[in-house]
Amino acid sequence: MMRLNKYIAQAGLASRRKADEFTANGNVKINGLVVKELGYDVKDGDVVEVNGRRIDYAAQKPVYIMLNKPLGYITSSNDEKGRPTVQDLVKDIDARLFSVGRLDYNTSGMLLMTNDGDMAYKLTHPKHHIYKTYRARVSGILSNEKIARLKNGVDIGGFVTSKANVKVIKQAERSTIVEIQIYEGKNRQVRKMFAAVGNKVQELERTAIGELHLGRLMLGHYRKLTPKEIEYLK
Ligand code: URA
Repeated sequence: MMRLNKYIAQAGLASRRKADEFTANGNVKINGLVVKELGYDVKDGDVVEVNGRRIDYAAQKPVYIMLNKPLGYITSSNDEKGRPTVQDLVKDIDARLFSVGRLDYNTSGMLLMTNDGDMAYKLTHPKHHIYKTYRARVSGILSNEKIARLKNGVDIGGFVTSKANVKVIKQAERSTIVEIQIYEGKNRQVRKMFAAVGNKVQELERTAIGELHLGRLMLGHYRKLTPKEIEYLK
């Protein structure tokens, strides 16, 4: 037996919260009948359909992978412009995986992918305080005053960022290599933060999510997370 929202989330269709919404809205059928009871316990042999699609739970073991995303790939599963997607890079995995959060087309680095809806929701929610680490090359010099502003929070257009860690790795004349850690994930947040202090991001790579590091994983390659890494994320 498993609670309905967990069953739907583990099939990778939605977070538990979203699964409850589907149920309340009458979009879930069990053995052919609409069920709106959020606390329903799915029993062995129950046939569950969400939005008209049958969940084959037995075939849906949770899968967790880490991909080193190259530039020039988008993280949503389809693109009107027909650009390559990260799904194209994980072809030989026998599950429908989706990305945990997003990386821009022009950002490389660590992307987690899973079919576990609960995990995806948890990791993208800022309240869980998992830092994401980025290495950026930005135009110009990053003064101490700018570093302090980035650390304390900057306005990126109607939203003031929370505390961040910022460390200059290398200061050259025309550009600076800097490491920044944030735990929110607003759209293009790192680019907007540097723009807010007058530096343009020229290159951006995500090197870590919490304690998970890219290590030697090559660009365009992926690997399954270890049981220890999965435990850490949970
Ligand atoms: N911040 C950005 O600006 N871009 C990304 O891809 C990730 C974080």
